[in-house]
Amino acid sequence: MTAYERSKIILRFADLLERHNDEIAALETWDNGKPFEQSAQTEVPMTTRLFRYYAGWADKIQGLTAPADGPYHVQTLHEPIGVAGQIIPWNFPLLMFAWKVGPALACGNTIVLKTAEQTPLSALYVSKLLHEAGLPPGVLNIVSGYGPTAGAALASHMEVDKLAFTGSTTTGKIVLQLAAKSNLKPVTLELGGKSPFIVCEDADVDKAAELAHYALFFNQGQCCCAGSRTFVHESVYDQFVEKANALAMKRVVGDPFKGGIQQGPQIDSEQFEKILKYIRSGVDGGAKLETGGERLGAKGYYIKPTVFTGVKDDMLIAKDEIFGPVQSILKYKDLDEVIQRSNASQYGLAAGVFTHNLDTANTLMRALRVGSVWINCFDVFDAAIPFGGYKQSGQGREKGSYSLSNYLQVKAVVTALKNPAWL
Ligand code: NAD
Repeated sequence: MTAYERSKIILRFADLLERHNDEIAALETWDNGKPFEQSAQTEVPMTTRLFRYYAGWADKIQGLTAPADGPYHVQTLHEPIGVAGQIIPWNFPLLMFAWKVGPALACGNTIVLKTAEQTPLSALYVSKLLHEAGLPPGVLNIVSGYGPTAGAALASHMEVDKLAFTGSTTTGKIVLQLAAKSNLKPVTLELGGKSPFIVCEDADVDKAAELAHYALFFNQGQCCCAGSRTFVHESVYDQFVEKANALAMKRVVGDPFKGGIQQGPQIDSEQFEKILKYIRSGVDGGAKLETGGERLGAKGYYIKPTVFTGVKDDMLIAKDEIFGPVQSILKYKDLDEVIQRSNASQYGLAAGVFTHNLDTANTLMRALRVGSVWINCFDVFDAAIPFGGYKQSGQGREKGSYSLSNYLQVKAVVTALKNPAWL
């Protein structure tokens, strides 16, 4: 179909998302356990926004002409890559659907998307709306299934032309191998992280503590870019710890469908047990458990917001992605030291910087080897802002115009000219 038709379908879909905002949000919360208010006020609206953004791109994808040294007319065609295989995780089921499906449709591809086994509902439901908006049958295909079976089949399929994966670094390495061993399909990877959040000496401690709290605890701590290493300058450390503890103790945990709830349960028993194990390793390793550190209540996978201080770089809680509501606070002395320690990670997804000193902000933004730097803010995910990782946090970028190249092939067409003016 024409690019304009694609654009109109995506726009109609966005209108339907808006109309069904609260039903979709309820499904997301049922499946995932995140607070309904978060699903309804943030995640579904962000999904709608993202589809509108890519609807705008659909009819603005075009090739170029290029100069030639000989008698040739040179043009590039930007063609759809073909069948896009997409594998998504459970922590932001709908948003990950949007990051993958939006650009792939805008570029004119067909899609086979595998949802995470824990959270299939929202993708299935909104796909029905996409068809209601006019998407022809067969263009978007949702497969609910397990990773090693359905996911691996997609990654190794000979007729899948492109793979986009979001999930853990361990699984990312597996799918990259499967893609290479089959048809060498290009792969985009959005993987794990252990992001530093750096509180500088000039910080307004109250605001820094609030932002650092949000950077870690948002979404039950289940964010790839969670600010999970809170580096605090020694001059404000004690004050910061006091605030951080107070915020963690105040955090409202409970039934995600109730109003005012800030933190719901973890996704499943596996993650719940894994987080509690990391907490035990923090205690055994000599970090100081300030607050939390155990399950909340006897039913459901609720974990008390947990804060550790005196955390050292070689402790597991400072190195591994915990993916839970566990804040690790580390003390530092100077800028060179915090740069070196921040970068000493296998990951390079994101960083938070809290300072009003322009020189400090400029130094850090350039020195940190990460795909996103948030200065005096965190988790700003507007549709046009690219996202992705350095090092073992991934390959390629999603969102913004950068995502389009993931779903396009560039064909160079050279036509011989008779008697060109320049020869
Ligand atoms: P996961 O790697 O276990 O699973 C992710 C997806 O891969 C699921 O759909 C799963 O079924 C599938 N999968 C599992 N094994 C597979 C295999 N052998 N072959 C093919 N597919 C397979 O990760 P998870 O626990 O669902 O998600 C959490 C991870 O995702 C965290 O590490 C988090 O940091 C990361 N994440 C990254 C981003 C990002 O943008 N960088 C965003 C969200 C989550």
